[in-house]
Amino acid sequence: MIGRSLVAILVVGCFAPLLNANDSAQTRALLLARNQEFQQAVIRVSERVYTAVGFGLSPVSMIVGDDGLVIIDAGLDLASGKRVLAEFRKITDQPVKAIVFTHSHRDHTGGAGAFAQDGTEVWAREPFNTEERLFQEAGLTIARKRGFRQFGVLVPEDEIKHVGIGARYFPESAASAPELTGPVMPTHTFSNGGTTLNVAGLELELVAASGETSDQLFVWFDAERVVFAGDNFYKSWPNLYAIRGTGYRDVRAWIGSLTSMLQRNPHRLVGGHTRPIVGEVRVLEVLTMRIPAQSCH
Ligand SMILES: [Zn+2]
Repeated sequence: MIGRSLVAILVVGCFAPLLNANDSAQTRALLLARNQEFQQAVIRVSERVYTAVGFGLSPVSMIVGDDGLVIIDAGLDLASGKRVLAEFRKITDQPVKAIVFTHSHRDHTGGAGAFAQDGTEVWAREPFNTEERLFQEAGLTIARKRGFRQFGVLVPEDEIKHVGIGARYFPESAASAPELTGPVMPTHTFSNGGTTLNVAGLELELVAASGETSDQLFVWFDAERVVFAGDNFYKSWPNLYAIRGTGYRDVRAWIGSLTSMLQRNPHRLVGGHTRPIVGEVRVLEVLTMRIPAQSCH
């Protein structure tokens, strides 16, 4: 996840041939154009897959099974999760059989309470939440404070229109901090390698895929050739280090995880932030960096 100034640098860098470095109006236009990524929508990615974007900081996906649903990532908080669920309920009233967390960051887990029902399996990879746990065990709260700065929570609204990887969403969340995490923790985990989740007539492969976090996984839905990459992919520069003070991420492991996705020949790519990418060629291009992901819509 990246802050405002870094986003500006990245976007300007990506389109450098078109820009005068001093042309703040054009820079501003580019930054504002990125808001298109974060317009609220429920996108039908494939026959059974829907992805809600723009409701919180990260997308929430739904796979419709024969007699139940699988939710992949749950958004930042209960408020945004409830709004997404209301949209999904316009499509189906099937029960939520499973939730999969692609990783432990709270912008992907905090809304799980909106989706979890009695008996819902919650899947994740161990060791879960190591990044935040290190701070908690040391009694440090500085990461939260720095996280607020990273995402411009305290910047006046007219000075920040989005946060690079999502719509500006923070005032509401900051005001309802107890709702950030929710009570939902994993009920089913695996550590390395992978596992197969069979639920509601769906077969999903959960694959250990270290990258932005060491508890990252990706979900492979072979029947429709959809990969859910978590935060190992979004249309921005990979967050090799978060300025709120996380440890450095393992770049070699990250590359290996992207390679593992590529080996499955995905035709649709649902990232941890920004809109899904549809089409075998485009997915191949962005995962191999033949074209900059920032310019792929
Ligand atoms: Zn994220």
